[in-house]
Amino acid sequence: MTGIDSLRNVLELERQKGYTDKAVIGGLDKYLHKQAGQIRQSLIPSLNEVKTKELIPQLLSGFDELNLANSNYGSYGVDERKRWMTNVLGWLDQLEKTTKTNSSQKVVVRSQESEVRSQESGVRSQKSEVSSQEPAIRSQESVASSQEPAIRSQESGVSSRERREELDSPVTVIKGITPNVAIKFAKLNVRELRDLLYFFPRRYVDYSRRKLVSELIEGEEQTIIGTIWQARVATLGNRKGTEAIVGDETGNIRVVWFNQPYLAKSFHTNARVVISGTVGLFKGHKVFESPEWELLKDKELIHTGRLVPVYPLTQGLYPRQVRKWTKETVDGYLWQLDDFLPSEIKTRCQLLDLPAAIAQVHYPDDLAMAERARGRLAFDELFLLQLGVLARKRDWQEGQPGNAFHIDQEVINKFLRCLPFTLTQAQERVLQEILTDLKQAKAMSRLLQGEVGSGKTVIATLALLIAAANGYQGALMAPTEVLAEQHYTNICGYLSQVGTQEPGEGTIRRHTGFLSRPLTIALLTGSLSSNEKERLHYKIGQGEVDIIVGTHALIQKEVEFNKLGLAVIDEQHRFGVLQRSALRQKGFNPHVLVMTATPIPRTMALTLYGDLDISVIDELPPGRQVVKTKCLEPQDREKAYSFLHRQVSNGRQAFIICPLVEESEILEAKAATTEYERLSREVFPNLKLGLLHGQMPGNEKEKVMRRFRAGELDILVSTSVVEVGIDVPRASVMMVEGAERFGLSQLHQFRGRVGRDKEQGYCLLISEKLSPEARERLRLMEKVHDGFVLAEKDLELRGPGEFFGTHQSGLPDLKLAKLTDLRSLELVRQEAITLFQSDPNLNKAEHQPLRQQLSRAWSRGAEWS
Ligand code: ADP
Ligand code: MG
Repeated sequence: MTGIDSLRNVLELERQKGYTDKAVIGGLDKYLHKQAGQIRQSLIPSLNEVKTKELIPQLLSGFDELNLANSNYGSYGVDERKRWMTNVLGWLDQLEKTTKTNSSQKVVVRSQESEVRSQESGVRSQKSEVSSQEPAIRSQESVASSQEPAIRSQESGVSSRERREELDSPVTVIKGITPNVAIKFAKLNVRELRDLLYFFPRRYVDYSRRKLVSELIEGEEQTIIGTIWQARVATLGNRKGTEAIVGDETGNIRVVWFNQPYLAKSFHTNARVVISGTVGLFKGHKVFESPEWELLKDKELIHTGRLVPVYPLTQGLYPRQVRKWTKETVDGYLWQLDDFLPSEIKTRCQLLDLPAAIAQVHYPDDLAMAERARGRLAFDELFLLQLGVLARKRDWQEGQPGNAFHIDQEVINKFLRCLPFTLTQAQERVLQEILTDLKQAKAMSRLLQGEVGSGKTVIATLALLIAAANGYQGALMAPTEVLAEQHYTNICGYLSQVGTQEPGEGTIRRHTGFLSRPLTIALLTGSLSSNEKERLHYKIGQGEVDIIVGTHALIQKEVEFNKLGLAVIDEQHRFGVLQRSALRQKGFNPHVLVMTATPIPRTMALTLYGDLDISVIDELPPGRQVVKTKCLEPQDREKAYSFLHRQVSNGRQAFIICPLVEESEILEAKAATTEYERLSREVFPNLKLGLLHGQMPGNEKEKVMRRFRAGELDILVSTSVVEVGIDVPRASVMMVEGAERFGLSQLHQFRGRVGRDKEQGYCLLISEKLSPEARERLRLMEKVHDGFVLAEKDLELRGPGEFFGTHQSGLPDLKLAKLTDLRSLELVRQEAITLFQSDPNLNKAEHQPLRQQLSRAWSRGAEWS
């Protein structure tokens, strides 16, 4: 047992014995006089454990002030003894708090002590005055002293509140971070100490490979530890710099720093130095050119000889400074950070503790540790996101019950038998997921994701039929009229293969022979005449229509459903959360199925549409091919046109997409019209061209689309309105003008319009002359055919705000979480669900830190209550 431990035991015993000086034979003073020296020595290993090295001098002087070697305990009265005891134990507490011992054990010990010690609170408050020069310690000390017994017994809770205040301090608390520097940090969203802990390096430079001077190899990043034989200001090229000769037992090497003559002063002869960098050759001799360097003292290396963090910087922030500051923050303040994650989760998911993760993400022992650290921190991001999202879900699910549908397998079989294809496995799986939901007396809330052409509409149609078979209405809402019309046509097409379509008007059709009664399906779009609309509204209200396909017109307040049981929303990233809930409110808590071909990364989907479960059709119908994609510059346009020509003469069709005109559909339509005229006149005078843009009346759009689909047109010149969902089996070329203006996901959507048949599809992306980065981005389209990966790239390059539109902000930051890592997303989600089920309001005492962290993470969105 070390001297300190026995000291504490003796003192505790003395206190238990009522300050009678009977704890040790011969009295406390004699014991202390003899032991003080040894106790002080036994301090050294403990001090090595102190996380904040700066506190060491304070601790030592605090110990000396106690003056144990000359104690006078025996001569005190009981009150004085108590006061003295409190002082000494207070110091021991300080030491304990600043060293890394198992804190959970300590809490137990302390709560026992607290009852005894609480009688002495008056004395302790004096102590807090004394220690006022010691900010880090004092903040805890003063709480302990100013609170009365009841509070003191939950010390850990109280002091964690205090700690947070300290981590909330501005970064200027760190020496060297001036208000001016703080402004620069603010640009990187780093304002408080906590932010600095969470200011993660982008990557690491590996300077961990230490070599002897004789082993140095030209062209590699290496590290040496050596002695400075000489350093001086030298003229290098024609500017002043620093030159040094550094050597170890195997040899010497020249080291130069260009333009940094002031460095020479830092390098004293015989000082030990660590040099990390790439070795070059100069006149046949090896040389380090402007390497990282660090004088070897007893401090941990941060610039050399290890994995060195590379931070994202802004003008006026320099790597060496930033490293020094993050290191100081980690060393000095990290211990104040509560690990808010319940320990079962950490164990189950094999996660690092939070302080370890933060320490390792900045200054990792090795790359594997850096990875683990990132893993833990990414987990946190997603976990907090998930919990917040689950809270939203709870909030609306606690509303009314949903409608349980009876699933008539016969209806399903009848439909499937009549399809000209069999469902893919993925379609089957997703169908079952949906049917399972529909059977519940809880409203379904599901997102159906699937690449373009993966066959979502068939599945949605089946769900709508089930609703109709149950006597409910079903609605399918699409973002554009063209798409609504196409859905309408497709659904009618499927149904007429099953039953008989009665002759009737274009926008309301009756099918018999499928259900025991006629099935009515209607199309409701903004371009209906007001008479037609009114009539349709009336029929919908009377329950005379079973399935209503439409656009935003569906959620207008004039539309009153008789008995809405299922709402399907297609391509939902165009709809905000508001529209979705508007549709929800139209029914008796209808089941909701949201479909998207935009491969929204799953977490994002769960976040923005957090009340949704997710189904993915991750398989295309057999025979589909990757669309060959090529990025072209304006001078290649002629070649592209002749390619189109050849394709058309082989019986194929082509799209030409006109550049996006931000903010103005009218200008965009104008540009498309001009382009259409030019192409018709000058480029393809003998081909049949069509024009499609958002400003055309709905029936005209439909006419053009119908003609294109029927093969009466060879080329469709269009604005981005064809982006979503239009299905033209014979189209084989998608040519996009001004490709650089579109997001990668959007381009991927365009590309999904072609090659839907067994024939090879082609995508030609024409852009203006681009910067290397913009070019690089577009080039991804040639290599990457996975919509999720492209979506992630979009997110990376443009941020979620751009990706989803600005109205969707207010989410917690995702700095490390990989949105494409579905497996870990699933893991996090499961953990969040489990926790949420056990303590939905996070009321349990052990979940308080988590609760606080959650509200911190969501503070911008202010979603958590
Ligand atoms: P999505 O809405 O996911 O883009 P659709 O449902 O419009 O896809 O289907 C695209 C095309 O593929 C349609 O012509 C559809 O009839 C067809 N299709 C759907 N499922 C299959 C399947 N399992 N096998 C073959 N073709 C299919
Ligand atoms: Mg579709």
